[in-house]
Amino acid sequence: MQIKFLGGAGEVGASCILIETEDRHGRPIGLMLDCGIRPGVEGDKKLPVLAGLREAYPLKGIFITHAHLDHTGAVPYLLKLYPDIPVYCTRPTRDIMDVLLTDSARLMALDTDSSLLYTEADVRYTMDLVKVIEFNTQVKIAPDIYIRMMQAGHILGASSILVEIHGIRTLYTGDYSTQSMKTVGPQMFTHFVTSPDILITEGTYGDSVNPSVNTEMDRLADALRQTMEAGGKVLIPAFSVGRSQELLLMLRKRRLDAPVYVDGMIQTMNLIHEANPDFLHPSLRFKSAGESIFSSSTFFQVRSKQQRSAILESTEPCIILSSGGMLSGGTSSFYAGRILQDEKSMIALVGHQSPCTPGGRLLEMAVSEAGYVGSDIPERTVDIGGSIYPVRCMVEKYNFSAHADRNGILSTVETLHPSTVFLVHGEASILQKLAAQLKSNGSDALIPYTGDSFQINEQNYRQLSLKPKAVLLP
Ligand SMILES: [Zn+2]
Ligand SMILES: [Zn+2]
Repeated sequence: MQIKFLGGAGEVGASCILIETEDRHGRPIGLMLDCGIRPGVEGDKKLPVLAGLREAYPLKGIFITHAHLDHTGAVPYLLKLYPDIPVYCTRPTRDIMDVLLTDSARLMALDTDSSLLYTEADVRYTMDLVKVIEFNTQVKIAPDIYIRMMQAGHILGASSILVEIHGIRTLYTGDYSTQSMKTVGPQMFTHFVTSPDILITEGTYGDSVNPSVNTEMDRLADALRQTMEAGGKVLIPAFSVGRSQELLLMLRKRRLDAPVYVDGMIQTMNLIHEANPDFLHPSLRFKSAGESIFSSSTFFQVRSKQQRSAILESTEPCIILSSGGMLSGGTSSFYAGRILQDEKSMIALVGHQSPCTPGGRLLEMAVSEAGYVGSDIPERTVDIGGSIYPVRCMVEKYNFSAHADRNGILSTVETLHPSTVFLVHGEASILQKLAAQLKSNGSDALIPYTGDSFQINEQNYRQLSLKPKAVLLP
């Protein structure tokens, strides 16, 4: 059996792992775990290394951990090259993936500078191949080859995948959280898996400790109140899945005395959350039928350009929660131009910002301690959609994370007690620090890079009752 890291190794983006093996009858097969893109990168550079897929190992399935594009965005492209392969995922992942892939195909079609990797028709073809599977159910893929998806936390429907090949168990965590969030509970795989032969874990925040969500929510709520009292508006550009729903629940609970305008794809994602109650955090699961979890008398949906303009024209303080978390797409960029220039207003950055995006530029200017930027210093400018704006509003960064942090990853590895650990989905420097920490705790970890493959000597795992460490032949 070979494990090939086709993307998302030594990097965040284009997560894609290929396992090549043979079934009990000696027939070669391939299993793909995730097939994502590098968001914010142009054309083919977005893609994992798909060119080298060997026809000798026909793909039996593509197994998707969760709907984020860095795990799904290349699936329609792959299915153009290799049609008719089933795509396995949970029901919410299917629903969210449908929306995100369709949107991504539409955006590519509009962007004439960039190559069109796939169309909306390709997305429809992909969605027709999706097979929904339940959490914690073993699915037979071929003789003596099974997979099982388990709750990963992170976002609605996110799963970690256990692959069993002739008794060799490989656990791929995907993106996971060890702390409960408001919309979803934490990872559950440590309840179902012990001592896997191989663990492939994400390490996005493997060198730091996340602040408590409640502390950050308190800090954000205070800043919202202050801005409302000063007569300003707050723009919260947010990713439409996960973070937006977490914020809506927080805003609903805190009952700030200001209207909250919700714009963009967030509304569709709210409906998907409500349509999949079994995957929600238990505290949200048993709401009475018909009650919307993400609505309140002070929340208003924005549906038109006229409405957006009216909100900006009004002198009324308000909170705008809008899709387009990095201000490079979605509806948030529509609001940003005006908000940026108003000293009384604020932009609250609540998610990851890639350096080459407007959000990344604003992050450089974010005031870590509360305080207004206030003045129009020449270099405090940002390019949004080709227009340069001075940054006069307050810009604040809040550290919400839907990923396990260093302590979460260390305790997960310790609990699982795997024979072999691979660290993926993180910047190489962060993964190296994490590997050093794991080593000092007594676990060796390997850091593969995109393009690396490892031959797994199955005999070593089978013959030794003690868990072997040195079984990999790079
Ligand atoms: Zn993710
Ligand atoms: Zn990811």
